[in-house]
Amino acid sequence: MFGLMQKHALLISDLIEFAQANHGDTEIVSRRVEKDIHRTTWSEVAKRSQKVAHALDAKNVARGERIATLAWNGYRHLELYFGVSGSGRILHTLNPRLHIDQMTWIINHAEDQVLCFDLSFAAIVAQLQSLCPTVRHWIALCDASTLAQHPELKHCESYEGWIEPHSTSYDWPELDENTASSLCYTSGTTGHPKGALYSHRSTVLHAFGIALPDVMNLSARDSVMPVVPMFHVNAWGIPYAAAMVGAKLVMPGPALDGESVYELIEQEKVTFAAGVPTVWQMLLNHMSPKGLRFAHLRRTVIGGSACPPSMISAFKNEYGVEVLHAWGMTELSPLGTLCSLKNKHLSWSQDEQMALLIKQGRSIFGVEMKIVGDHGESQPHDGKTYGDLYVKGPWVIDRYFKDTHSALKDGWFATGDVATIDPEGFMLITDRSKDVIKSGGEWISSIEIENIAVAHPSVAMAACIGMPHPKWDERPVVVVVKRAQADLSKEELLAFYKGKVASWQIPDDVIFVESIPLGATGKMLKTRIREMLADYRLPL
Ligand code: AMP
Repeated sequence: MFGLMQKHALLISDLIEFAQANHGDTEIVSRRVEKDIHRTTWSEVAKRSQKVAHALDAKNVARGERIATLAWNGYRHLELYFGVSGSGRILHTLNPRLHIDQMTWIINHAEDQVLCFDLSFAAIVAQLQSLCPTVRHWIALCDASTLAQHPELKHCESYEGWIEPHSTSYDWPELDENTASSLCYTSGTTGHPKGALYSHRSTVLHAFGIALPDVMNLSARDSVMPVVPMFHVNAWGIPYAAAMVGAKLVMPGPALDGESVYELIEQEKVTFAAGVPTVWQMLLNHMSPKGLRFAHLRRTVIGGSACPPSMISAFKNEYGVEVLHAWGMTELSPLGTLCSLKNKHLSWSQDEQMALLIKQGRSIFGVEMKIVGDHGESQPHDGKTYGDLYVKGPWVIDRYFKDTHSALKDGWFATGDVATIDPEGFMLITDRSKDVIKSGGEWISSIEIENIAVAHPSVAMAACIGMPHPKWDERPVVVVVKRAQADLSKEELLAFYKGKVASWQIPDDVIFVESIPLGATGKMLKTRIREMLADYRLPL
């Protein structure tokens, strides 16, 4: 027997309609490429996203076609989020930090029809134009007079001119909730990038999931700043969840340096922010020497790569800001887990709480996790046994875009991460499976070794790599960027490890470098670090 409730599809257009009807005057603030601060409201974003839908109709872009964006976080990008997906087209967010060859490959693979771009990327677009034959329309996210100042851009039209003639009211189609809504390619360290194709259903369910109190705890009382880019897994779903709860949105545009982010947080009374550790490190580096404080910021979600415990304590103890460590990936829309305490942990000591808070956290309802051993056998959730992390749920990928085979193994998606899960469900990522260091048959967590290094006051960044060893197979070395003017010797850093890990886990060597290569999403590129160390030999 079926239930007798309405079969109302979960659609992205419902999110923007809801925000317009219930939170119409709530502000959307953007720092623009033009460098000024722009203010609008959910109501205006809703109206202009309907103009976008009409403008796509006028260009005869069929449902299911891909519309690419090459843009920072800002109101025009937000309008495209709702206008493109709401009208049944697929929003394809491109990462501008990728190499031009990779970007070309992705656009051609996605067969994008329209490409909307911020003027910061004019030079990239000028190159792409001859390389991407499927793109019929190039739209610059600005007005006509600003575009006129860029004579190097040919065959482009301005976004404002494009949407201007159209009505602010559009009959959003009643799509099947499993209709594709947006597309993101994974950075792919090996082989070609792969596309994760989200649906309206998966996106709306993910928005419900991340807004929950034990996750991001988003509400209409929040002023929310996604520092995480809208071109990286839909800014972790925050634009959708903000519309769902009617939060104020504050978008930093291209200015991601510590000073600009701090200014905007204070000026717009931001209560909740989200970003990767490297961006927060820039913020703390700006604030610490000047003795600056936050007046309103209460919570921040940090994820994308492991958040060092030293950063969690700095936010908490020096700035009174709660850090919520989160884990996810493109294939998970992206959120899988987030670390927040349970009632019984509230009476624990600071140290006991910290030991939990450094973990990547527990499952959000909707994401099931398991860890498995080398032969596929399930491993115990005892907080000690490592295993390959597998997940499943309604916002987890089944199959990559244009692939004929499912990406799943017995219904589970292999994340490529290695983790432990404790009896209470708290998961700790110890490594990407390809970065695991195996020394004498025992595993050493490169993340743990890196976290200890960056807790040293003279260390700005650290990457731990396994190096071939004749007796132990592999031994860890730590590649370190010192803080400006810091004086630190190899011996001092190695001594710092004593008592913090077992003695056999202490790295064999410290290699000081000027910088560590980062990928397009701000993660350390261990493949490149290994290439840099091709001629390196361990001290034996
Ligand atoms: P991406 O799909 O580019 O977002 O990358 C996903 C990968 O980033 C995951 O599979 C993890 O290896 C890594 N990652 C994301 N969040 C964390 C975290 N909090 N701690 C450690 N690794 C993380």
